[in-house]
Amino acid sequence: MTPQSGPPDDHLAPVDRRNIVITGFMGTGKSTIAREVAHILGRPLVDMDQVIAERAGMSIAEIFSRYGEQAFRQQERALSEELSTQECLVIATGGGTLVDAGNCELLARNGYLVCLDGEVDELLLRLRGKDDRPMLWDEDPSRRLRDLLHSRQPAYAEIPYHLHTGSQPPTELAQEVIELTASEPRVWRVATPTGSYPVYLLPGGLRHLGPLLRARGISSKVMIVSDEHVWPLHGSRLLAGLQASRYTPTPIILPAGEQHKNLDTVRLLYDQFIEAGLERSGAVIAFGGGVVTDMVGFASATYMRGVPLVPVPTTLLGMVDASVGGKVAVDHPRGKNLVGAFVQPLLVMLDPAMLSTLPELEHRAGLAEVIKAGIIADAELFAYLEAQNSMPAPPSMRWLVERALAVKIAVVEEDPYERGRRAVLNLGHTFAHALEVLSSYQLHHGLAVSLGIVAAAHLAEARGLMATGTRERIVATLGRHGLPTRYAAYPPQVIYGAMQSDKKKRGAALRFVLPRDIGEVVIVDDVSESQVIQALERIRS
Ligand code: NAD
Repeated sequence: MTPQSGPPDDHLAPVDRRNIVITGFMGTGKSTIAREVAHILGRPLVDMDQVIAERAGMSIAEIFSRYGEQAFRQQERALSEELSTQECLVIATGGGTLVDAGNCELLARNGYLVCLDGEVDELLLRLRGKDDRPMLWDEDPSRRLRDLLHSRQPAYAEIPYHLHTGSQPPTELAQEVIELTASEPRVWRVATPTGSYPVYLLPGGLRHLGPLLRARGISSKVMIVSDEHVWPLHGSRLLAGLQASRYTPTPIILPAGEQHKNLDTVRLLYDQFIEAGLERSGAVIAFGGGVVTDMVGFASATYMRGVPLVPVPTTLLGMVDASVGGKVAVDHPRGKNLVGAFVQPLLVMLDPAMLSTLPELEHRAGLAEVIKAGIIADAELFAYLEAQNSMPAPPSMRWLVERALAVKIAVVEEDPYERGRRAVLNLGHTFAHALEVLSSYQLHHGLAVSLGIVAAAHLAEARGLMATGTRERIVATLGRHGLPTRYAAYPPQVIYGAMQSDKKKRGAALRFVLPRDIGEVVIVDDVSESQVIQALERIRS
């Protein structure tokens, strides 16, 4: 959905008519749970195996023995095509239907795909004595089941949403499916040079993390790294969710704040990873704001030459920026983010509920990055914030996250290693990083970015890049959201000096990202010292 102007009005939001598609291995209870879901929601149920059998006038087992698996798969494809054009259905697929990427794509077009997972032993128990499963026809059905499950695992892992079916009754699981899909989950798949990873925007996402990690093959120790503010507020929910998936995570709670984003803390993390026995088959969950995701990302990229990283950002800034794109780093006394790496996460989980406890200052800091995304590439997003006077309400906040994230994803997909276009994401950052270093990281990153954007706008104006009035719009919008647009703590010459250690400096020249219009920026590296000083003078007055 791409709204034309601003977020959807809560009262006018259309009923979600997308299909609910329930899949999973045989024995996970797809048909039973789909029937429950359909019953509760009063929606028509389509059991794909049943429809195929009815249309063929014979059982699935007979289709297999008479015409072979291939003929059955063709029927599945034809039915997937048919269902992809319908809405408001609850669909139970066959166990192998969504192993086929084409069927997956068809049914995802207009549906939420939910995969039910189960332990091999549980599945064996449920399937005992059932000889109507042609895929299990074998001398040794239990070995066949294990092999088949193993071979299908990678395909199941691609399905966006997972629920573990343990001993819960079908009605409870059906409720979980309904809750999951009613929250209108969203998933983006971010393409990287080596594959892709999913970014979930999922209300209640903390609860769903365990099944997603299981589906992605995380089989040993899971570490959670959080900070002293986030952990007491949300830690127990994350722990409970992971424990429900039979993980025994080890939490590490760090002091909060940018001043701890350094190699000393990373060393402590290595010590604790070793102590806990973290291996490459495990994972590290970075549960906090951008400071935690950056620092933990660096530790996970370097520990044992890389263990899977799972950012679960808890700040607005972390959700729209720091957790996606693969850049991780720690600060050095000589410069911000000077020691770092590129590491693509296993998956990213955004749970909007995290934002409910975010202090107002942190909301504002996050909005600086959202406004930045608007200036870089989304004029409509900017225009929405330009017209707002107060902190956006949760539905709008979700829309803002989606739009800003879309800007970030598009840029990092185009240039994953920051060799060209990706530098646009640094709008305001050359100034901001210098201010952060000078303040010994006491000035908040988001607030420094706001000041940096204002300085960049002055610079762009002085170079005749922008139409009259554009700088005023930028400054007014930042100010309207309580972000600083003036700063007189350091003389321009001192700030300029601090900018010299910026790692984006090319040779002798500093690089700047300058707005040309709302929604369009350019990268320049021929800015003179006097132009920079002049822009910095402007933010003093
Ligand atoms: P932060 O991580 O310091 O979090 C801000 C404060 O909010 C902290 O005190 C934290 O404990 C608290 N907090 C976090 N979540 C909370 C919640 N849900 N409820 C209550 N309190 C909560 O700061 P940040 O603004 O999230 O991130 C800034 C960092 O991100 C900077 O170091 C910056 O360099 C980095 N960053 C990285 C990238 C990247 O691409 N890697 C992009 C942008 C920013």
